Amino acid sequence: MIIDVHRHLIVKGTVQGHYIRGAQKSFVMMYNKTHNTNVSPQDFTEKIVRPWIDPNADNIIEEMDAAGVDKTVIFAVDYGLLFGEAPINAFDQNKLYADVAKRHEGRLIPFMAIDPRRPGALKHCEQAYHEWGMQGFKLHAGVGYMPDDPCCYWVYEKAAEWNIPIMVHTGGAPNSTPALRWECSRPAYFATAAARYPEADFIFAHCGDIGWWREAIQAAVWLPNVYVDLSLWQKPYKKWPKPRFYQWLRDIVDLAGADKIMFATDALYPNLMCPLAEWVQAFQNRDTDIEFTDEEIDLILGGTAQKVLGLED
Ligand SMILES: [Zn+2]
Repeated sequence: MIIDVHRHLIVKGTVQGHYIRGAQKSFVMMYNKTHNTNVSPQDFTEKIVRPWIDPNADNIIEEMDAAGVDKTVIFAVDYGLLFGEAPINAFDQNKLYADVAKRHEGRLIPFMAIDPRRPGALKHCEQAYHEWGMQGFKLHAGVGYMPDDPCCYWVYEKAAEWNIPIMVHTGGAPNSTPALRWECSRPAYFATAAARYPEADFIFAHCGDIGWWREAIQAAVWLPNVYVDLSLWQKPYKKWPKPRFYQWLRDIVDLAGADKIMFATDALYPNLMCPLAEWVQAFQNRDTDIEFTDEEIDLILGGTAQKVLGLED
């Protein structure tokens, strides 16, 4: 089974326009460096991102089918307390994700994106979990809280009680005003939280990103309840010489174990640099002499996620 554990819907009104205009400058720079192009931020938004608007996720299902991906975990990001509320507020966005997942039952798995400091957040998440069937939390601490701050404890307690994972952003963040706080997304701080809550499973999104991957892997090595996802690694895969990418993959498998590593995209932006099918093939049809067992690849592509998400075969 192939599971993408990290994807966002492209829906109008879910991200504050002011933030998007700043962030696009980072995303278009990455896009241009990957493709050796010189697309302007405006053209990037209008011509490259806009065609992907897909409020019902019907195109996502088509893309998954073509790439051989069985299931995808989807979630929003709760930026509201930092940037101001998007036209569709955070609670309504979670409902939207739950509804879209229901439309594609069995294919899409919705997580609740929440800023733990939000008034009414616990009550909202209780409803989202019990009534809407949402199956995990998503935290982006870069909006301004530390992962080991007591404001987060209720999330970790509920994740343990409900036996659902917490996806946490680890790594960099784009331009914005006000700025996302990079230091809040360091794996070390989430590791402290994970050490304190051994009954809750943490997925470190982006495996700490290119700056902090060793720190993320260090947490996965030490803590039984810490996992990493490989989203955002499409760019190193595209830009590095292939032996370098596969040696890196070999190293993290040797250090943490394939049973701690999950395939992921963080679509849409990384998919613009490396399409979903190509990213799957990077694991299934490896252009390298560096060896991986079938068991390791099966775990990375879906086995690890299947266990953490509690999915049947
Ligand atoms: Zn993401």
